[in-house]
Amino acid sequence: VLDAAFFARWMAAADAAVDREADRLTELDAAIGDADHGVNMRRGFTAVVSAQEVEPQATPGAVLVAAGRRLISTVGGASGPLYGTLLRGAGKALGDAAEVTPEDLGRALRAGVEAVARLGGAAAGDKTMLDALEPGARALERGGGFGEAARAAREGAVATVPMLARKGRASYLGERSVGHEDPGAASSALLFAALAEAAA
Ligand code: ADP
Ligand code: MG
Ligand code: MG
Repeated sequence: VLDAAFFARWMAAADAAVDREADRLTELDAAIGDADHGVNMRRGFTAVVSAQEVEPQATPGAVLVAAGRRLISTVGGASGPLYGTLLRGAGKALGDAAEVTPEDLGRALRAGVEAVARLGGAAAGDKTMLDALEPGARALERGGGFGEAARAAREGAVATVPMLARKGRASYLGERSVGHEDPGAASSALLFAALAEAAA
């Protein structure tokens, strides 16, 4: 079972992963966007971790809701409101339970993914973060565990390479968006990898 401390570790692992991979995220965004995804993610998760150090939350749901709010208020780019909506939506779906299972988290993340799809008007196959988030959340929901979810999210990110972008800045490039991994899908895969790290 996963408690509030586990969720705080997840956010810290996500922050560390985003720090390590910031240059790669920015390079991916330089190819099909405006070269700020690494900077945006770093700013957001640094703020999430400093907020939870000052004000620890008592339940898994509260950790995610607080993190989501923080991302929305600190990240200027599209990814801030989108990831904020993901975590806030997942946190609300977890309610006030003190402990949850990985399958509960998978279900909650799927609710968050649906909120992201509504906010951004995107669907799977549009070459966005959804292409990694959705398979990751589904694998977790099915009981595959964190390793399987991380693999599914990474495969989903790699699968964005041949896609044509239909949402976000990359869509302005049309056919020229083909042949590059979507930066948001890459960072979503990092979020799932961080989950596996927090559990280790
Ligand atoms: P910005 O595009 O404002 O510079 P970022 O570079 O931080 O923001 O994030 C870009 C990522 O956000 C994209 O790679 C994509 O995954 C995701 N994204 C952009 N628009 C949408 C959307 N409408 N729906 C889902 N994801 C989106
Ligand atoms: Mg960008
Ligand atoms: Mg930008």
